[in-house]
Parts: sequence; structure tokens; C-alpha cells
Amino acid sequence: MLCYLPLWTMAQIQWPAGKEAAIMLTYDDGLQSQLENVVPALNEHNFKGTFFLMGYYLDAKDIPQWREVSHQGHELGNHSIYHPCNEAQADTLSSHCRALNCYTVEEMLNEIKIMNTFLSAIDGKSQHSYAYPCGQYKAGGQDYGTPMIAQGICNFARMSDSEEVITSPSQLIPNNVPSFTAFPGYKAEQLTSFIEKVLANGGAGVILFHGIGGDWISVDVEEHQKMIDFLASHPEIWVGTFSDVLSYIQQQK
Ligand SMILES: [Zn+2]
Repeated sequence: MLCYLPLWTMAQIQWPAGKEAAIMLTYDDGLQSQLENVVPALNEHNFKGTFFLMGYYLDAKDIPQWREVSHQGHELGNHSIYHPCNEAQADTLSSHCRALNCYTVEEMLNEIKIMNTFLSAIDGKSQHSYAYPCGQYKAGGQDYGTPMIAQGICNFARMSDSEEVITSPSQLIPNNVPSFTAFPGYKAEQLTSFIEKVLANGGAGVILFHGIGGDWISVDVEEHQKMIDFLASHPEIWVGTFSDVLSYIQQQK
């Protein structure tokens, strides 16, 4: 017997029992302030976060701690080795020949593969997600995200600076996952209003942080904690890793 469902029902994401939406908390650049201020705050509520590490900034002495973070159920993601961005936005490490516009697609994919191997040595996992440095997806003017996903080098790739909420499985584009970017001086209300929008839509939303109470592009510890408290007061929101939540949605396509 054919069963006709309303179109909107078919398009919605079906969440696990007791959940109505999902928030993915992502933290870039592998910063000390994340190990000190974020991991304990997440663990207190059994929330799982995603930490996008970049190879050149990773200190060997911190590797046991990142491995422990992974063992606690958090995700270690790939943020490249040299963090190449286009020259106009380049920092000292991505200037001149390390600028993204100087790379070929093949060179960029090779760098990501090496970083995957590096991450596997830390977390023992064979699959990693990716965050585009500076949210830029073109190496030498060519899209490298599409072949990266098509070749299975990474499973999902996160963009930046978007308040878009993923509300249906068909809306999930693995090489172009939007994220709401938290900038310095942001108050908890700016973060929770995005979370409320995600919840109201029964969707999935990604938040991008850098430092928390230190390092760079930093959000105050207190404001971050208020957001954590807000999430803790909403058990209907699944706070899961980037790969876990997106894989769950992807299976509904
Ligand atoms: Zn970065």
C-alpha cells in the first residue's frame, strides 16, 4: 500500500528519541584555551565537541591531552597543516608560497591527507572531518572541497560565517556545511538566539569558535559557559560532534 506523507514531513530531519534539534560546537586551531576552558565545560554535561587541529601549531607535549580528549568522545578534525588562506587574509604562515591562491588542488589535498594521517596517529580513527582555513575552498582558484569529499579524503567540510540552519537531509551538502561564527565580544545571547532558531526549526546548527578566555578571536569564558548552561537546560537538543550529527542526517537522504 502506498503511503502519502505530506511533503514537509518527508523533508524534516528525524531526530533520535527525545531530541528535537542538534547543535555542533566546533573549535578551531587547536588552542590551549580550548583544552583548559572548553573540554572540562563540555565534559561536565557529557556534551561532545569537535576540535579542528592544524598541524604546524600542534605542540608535541599536548598530543597526549588531545588523545585523551578524543577518548572522551570528542572529535579531532582536520584544519590542514599550514592553514593556507588567500594572500589578502594571510598570516605569517600562509604568506607568499603558503597562500592558498599559490596552491594547486592536488597540493592542498596532499596536505589534508598528511594531516589525516597525523590525526590517525593521535586518535586511531580512519575518517576525519574538515574545516576550511579562513572558510576558503579554492586552491589556486579551483574548488578543492568537492574532490576532497568525492575522493573520501574527508567526510564533511565546514564553512564559516553563516546563520543558515540545516532543516532537511536534502539540504546537507557535505563539502559545504554552514557555521555560525562567534567573534570576540560576543555575548551568550547572540549564541543562544542562534540555538533557539535551530531548535524552533527542528534543525541542525554549527557554531564556530576559536579561543575561549584566551588565545585569539576569543569569546569570554563566562559567555561561553552561559551558552553551555542554556544547552544543559534544553535536554531536547543533541549536542554532538560534527561527524556524528552530520552522519546521522546523511543516512536519511
Ligand atoms: Zn583556523
